[in-house]
Amino acid sequence: MTATFLDRTSGPSPTAPAPVPGAHVAGLACKNCRRPQELGAFFVCPACFGPLEVVYDYDVIRGLLSRDVIAARPAGIWRYAELLPVTAPPARGLAVGSSPLVAAPRLGDAIGIDNLWLKDDTRNPTLSFKDRVVAVAAARAVEFGFDTLACASTGNLAGATAAAAAALGLRSFVFVPWDLEPAKIDHALAYGATVVPVKGTYDDINRLCLEIADEEGWAFVNVNMRPFYAEGSKTLGFEIAEQLGWRLPDVIVSPIASGSLFTKVARAFRELVEVGLVEPKEVRFVGGQAAGCSPVATAFGSGASEITPVRVPDTIVRSLSIGSPADGRYALELARGTGGSVEGVTDEPTAEAIRRLGRLEGLFAETAGGVTIAAAEQARRAGVIRDGDEVVALITGNGVKTPDARRFGLAESVEAGDPGLARAIAPTYRDFEALKGERGV
Ligand SMILES: *Cc1c(COP(=O)(O)O)cnc(C)c1O
Repeated sequence: MTATFLDRTSGPSPTAPAPVPGAHVAGLACKNCRRPQELGAFFVCPACFGPLEVVYDYDVIRGLLSRDVIAARPAGIWRYAELLPVTAPPARGLAVGSSPLVAAPRLGDAIGIDNLWLKDDTRNPTLSFKDRVVAVAAARAVEFGFDTLACASTGNLAGATAAAAAALGLRSFVFVPWDLEPAKIDHALAYGATVVPVKGTYDDINRLCLEIADEEGWAFVNVNMRPFYAEGSKTLGFEIAEQLGWRLPDVIVSPIASGSLFTKVARAFRELVEVGLVEPKEVRFVGGQAAGCSPVATAFGSGASEITPVRVPDTIVRSLSIGSPADGRYALELARGTGGSVEGVTDEPTAEAIRRLGRLEGLFAETAGGVTIAAAEQARRAGVIRDGDEVVALITGNGVKTPDARRFGLAESVEAGDPGLARAIAPTYRDFEALKGERGV
């Protein structure tokens, strides 16, 4: 695959001079003041302290990428390597991406959406979309010469970072909230990471990691490697367009934690237009947050242009619990600028949406997936999603890692030999009748 990437004869214009490896990446630039910055493990603009972003040379990329070139490549995120910030696809690493885009007509019926697709990212190696962002950050970290991978995690990132490090032969340190779901800690431990539980919120952990990154010289995927990490989310957008037959949908519904995924899918679509792989189209972006930690949804609802941080998140949706979202302002601008919205969803409808995803479509999502579907339903009721819209909802994590949702009765359990067994089972039967009703059997 590395050979294909650099092989001039595989590009659309065989007469062009041989591409220089890495020439598709022009460098970094500040997202606020646009000041350019050389390529390196930098993440803050030295002039205005704004976030840095990767800049590409789309003229170079246009000459290298075509639908046919991509179609001939193996599955996975490196199909789109020229639109990612690495010199060349890594020779090693986990098999990430190319997750299914599945039609969800029954769930669509239940929530009033005519043409609903689910992008099922519960199936990545560590069961969440975080494998995408980590794969890109890790590949770039290896190119920069780092030997240690680390992260500040709300949960899923810990496992993804630990697994990527294992596959690449790097050391890993993951910093997590001390009260994180045990399944997420087990994941990181299984891959051999040093897990550091921290008494504090995600935002406290993030500040701690900023200091450590400086002192230790480690590659923190979402701190000093953040510009590269963030680019990995674009692969969801690239895949959706390719899976729809190189077309864009009417609406994207995405969960928002830091706001990176949400805004990067939009960037992916702009880039596909820029390099001529899809026709331009106005896509509305709908974001979902848990009401117990919804700084972006709150700003959207009140018409504010600034995000007020949430100090103490209170929700079962841990994976989205970022009180001070780094890309919150850009997420807000994207929702407003495209005619979308950002929905705050309480835990009860989130649990109901998880149940529906499972029972109507056979997909077991984590709490973030519940937020996404509940947000889609709210946006539909508000008229942001309209009759006939083609809607793609991003299901970003697997339910096996979020047992908190069980509090809302996802499953009943009984003691073996319990005389109350019959009474305990009765509600399950009642439930079954209701289920048959839902399914129209
Ligand atoms: C991290 C995460 C997100 C969103 O992350 P952003 O910080 O907004 O990019 C969504 N879903 C799941 C399951 C996650 O773990």
